[in-house]
Amino acid sequence: MRYGFNAATAAGVSAMPDRDVDAVIVGAGFAGLYMLHRLRGMGLSALVLEAGGGVGGTWYWNRYPGARCDVESIQYSYQFSQELQQEWEWSERYAPQPEILRYAEHVADRYDLRRDIRFDTRVKTAVYDSGPGRWRLEAEDGARFTATWCIMATGCLSAANLPELPGRDAFAGATYHTGQWPHDGVDFTGLRVGVIGTGSSAIQSIPIIAGQAAHLTVFQRTPNYTIPARNAPLDPELVRRVKADYPALRRQAWRMPNGIAFRPNPQSALAATPEERRREYQARWEEGGLTFMGAFNDLILDPDANATAAEFVRGKIREIVADPDTAEALCPSNVIGCKRLCVDTDYYRTFNRANVTLVDVARSPIEAITPTGVRVGGVEHPLDAIVYATGFDAMTGALLRIDIRGEGGRALRDKWDGGPRAYLGLATAGFPNLFMITGPGSPSVLTNMLPSIEQHVDWIADCLGHLRARGLARIEAEPAAEDAWVAHVNEVAGGSLRSTCSSWYVGANVPGKPRVFMPYIGGFPAYVDRCEAIAANGYEGFALGA
Ligand code: NAP
Repeated sequence: MRYGFNAATAAGVSAMPDRDVDAVIVGAGFAGLYMLHRLRGMGLSALVLEAGGGVGGTWYWNRYPGARCDVESIQYSYQFSQELQQEWEWSERYAPQPEILRYAEHVADRYDLRRDIRFDTRVKTAVYDSGPGRWRLEAEDGARFTATWCIMATGCLSAANLPELPGRDAFAGATYHTGQWPHDGVDFTGLRVGVIGTGSSAIQSIPIIAGQAAHLTVFQRTPNYTIPARNAPLDPELVRRVKADYPALRRQAWRMPNGIAFRPNPQSALAATPEERRREYQARWEEGGLTFMGAFNDLILDPDANATAAEFVRGKIREIVADPDTAEALCPSNVIGCKRLCVDTDYYRTFNRANVTLVDVARSPIEAITPTGVRVGGVEHPLDAIVYATGFDAMTGALLRIDIRGEGGRALRDKWDGGPRAYLGLATAGFPNLFMITGPGSPSVLTNMLPSIEQHVDWIADCLGHLRARGLARIEAEPAAEDAWVAHVNEVAGGSLRSTCSSWYVGANVPGKPRVFMPYIGGFPAYVDRCEAIAANGYEGFALGA
């Protein structure tokens, strides 16, 4: 169901008047929905502009087979409302995409949000007009909007990355990107399918596509570590216990570096005996999920400690995958947890199927997409369909695909041509009254996104309340504060093994993108404390004005 007002309604209105509001929010994912709710609650007029035809953001677009969250559903949910978290029922340990989308739709309906969301509206430009101190936005359909505050809720993993492979557009069969999946689903029955990529999206979809396709060819450039999800229906007893005191679970999560309540082991891997390590890794492997990296406290800090966990997983791959050459090809050699750890159901086992072939494109890259398949090392792999599971232009892509211009007409694309620079990941100097929710330089993708989103939304809403109470209407990050924050973000990144490999965290997956570790790895609690202290000190590091 889609209501509210949308571009189709507006189509044909040639001289569309500007719509003027207090705040314009770009994106109707979890960030945009909550931001709208908060601003409305403060009595501000707010309008959300959303490129899709419905709410849900990443969960609206990523409809590929097997898509589900790798954070447990009981924690991957809003906590701003007791009633909401009590009434919503998750069905599985890890919620599947359709259920998360239904949750986003429920939130939109429950808080009557759709009447202030303009769907099918892709923002093309956002320009700060310093005279009146207003942001002017224009959408691809020509619609224009003005606002005092411009809030980017555009998501960290929302700009699809489609590699420029030679001959890509000449392919005669069907082509899909996991992040732009057709809404009616795709039936691969009887088809020869190629999947390019072996990140989280590929790892979730490959077992399901293999079950449908006549033949599946997986083109792997870098093997990934993946831990079994052990997904199952949610235990009603667990749900009852959590709901008896949901805030206690949330408080526990807020104290964790990744914003997720779990049991990290405070011991060092190197201090443990080989047998103790094996037992701990085995227990975490059986428990399933991302908390595998909590097996010891030095896994992401010490290369030798990390190597023990990596070797444990490689041992599992060799146990599961029957063909030794395929098993070796699937064994990653890099640091475990450097690229984001994946969580799967039956991924490695899928390579034991007779209808699945793994093609290593690390040493011999894909030469070309031909009209009938993919050519690697002079060999053509005939295909009827290609799935690009090639990820996203992460963290900056969605922002920079909009032509954002600040004070003096300066383009954000120019300011960030050496990598993103933002104060707290919330604002960027030279762009007054522009906020980013989970922007680069904030913990965002290294945490459970939902609490990170809520923390940013609440901080922005409180900031606007502070300004309004003082009759102010302008806020801008100061360059010195921004420089200091960027230096701090880089410094803490340097202490972690996470910044050492060619991941999307450093922009390595997009040719030409500056190589900078983009999220803040200092941990969610330290970050929250810093944001709160800055607010308590009258928004230290920000210039406030009338
Ligand atoms: P990704 O992790 O960036 O993986 C993209 C894959 O495509 C990589 O294997 C990459 O190889 C490959 N690739 C890219 N360009 C290529 C080329 N030209 N030739 C060959 N291979 C190429 O993207 P993703 O799987 O969509 O996941 C992105 C992030 O989204 C995840 O890390 C996670 O944070 C999030 N996500 C979460 C879930 C979940 O909650 N379960 C599910 C999906 C995604 P290289 O590694 O060599 O670059």
